[in-house]
Amino acid sequence: MRAAIASRAPAMRRTTSPARVRDAVARWRAGGKAVAFVPTMGAIHAGHLSLVVRARGTGRRVVASIFVNPLQFGPGEDFGRYPRPIARDRRLLAAAGVDLLWEPRAGDLYPDGHRTRVRVPGLDEVLEGASRPGHFEGVTTVVLKLLDVVTPDVLWLGQKDAQQAVVLERMVRDLLLPVAVKRAPTVREPDGLALSSRNAYLSPAERAQAVALCRGLEAARESLEAGERSAAGVKRRVRAVWRGFPLVREDYVAVVDARTLAPVRDTRGARRLLVAVAAAVGPARLIDNLEWSPR
Ligand code: AMP
Repeated sequence: MRAAIASRAPAMRRTTSPARVRDAVARWRAGGKAVAFVPTMGAIHAGHLSLVVRARGTGRRVVASIFVNPLQFGPGEDFGRYPRPIARDRRLLAAAGVDLLWEPRAGDLYPDGHRTRVRVPGLDEVLEGASRPGHFEGVTTVVLKLLDVVTPDVLWLGQKDAQQAVVLERMVRDLLLPVAVKRAPTVREPDGLALSSRNAYLSPAERAQAVALCRGLEAARESLEAGERSAAGVKRRVRAVWRGFPLVREDYVAVVDARTLAPVRDTRGARRLLVAVAAAVGPARLIDNLEWSPR
């Protein structure tokens, strides 16, 4: 019985070649299949897999990519030590139902002497972009290339990286790209910590304190539900929680308009608010966020 089930599981194909990806997608499309795309940097966890499961839908073909994109890491960031458990990643993505895994090599995406960059000014230099200059330019540049090869009908992104989703949604809209962008909710550990490949950097003591990010956001939500109008008041609530976690060093606590990322002073001043936080916990720089709509 087990063998029968295993033998019926469709095999995941994988390639490094952009041409092979284009061929596979062209064949699916000719057969009337819609294609969904889940780009990742690997070190696959349940957050990534939730995107694959959503992407699969009915009768959709799913392309996933694994590429640790050097262009989106700043000098001194963790490009070199970013986890790359490729055999495990392949197993997990195959089991979740990926049809084609694309593992481009750097040279496939960045030909010698490449210079072209994509930017979304106004959205890409605030919050994460302020702390990590050039980060989103790397993200938008690579995702445009990935989309150009895969030409998916649907691009799946995680709410965990809310600013990344805002930036990419704007890029897709501004460049008239024929792809629907969908966001999936943040997948969390039982104690609330948002899943992230970077959680692997945490020691047990740091892991215990990393819950500060989601605890702070829970306090922010409580204050908003209780009618807090001042963004400064919301931020104070987050910081008050964080004072109980000495291993957590704030990078930022921000209350912004979820669509424009512009700072908000009065929490009723935006249709949708994004409370975005970033902090270093030991060697890991972690982010989390919550979206909230005033009634
Ligand atoms: P990454 O491999 O970190 O570049 O992430 C690839 C995709 O997975 C992005 O769209 C992320 O927003 C999404 N993602 C990462 N962590 C989570 C999570 N905990 N829940 C849902 N989606 C996630």
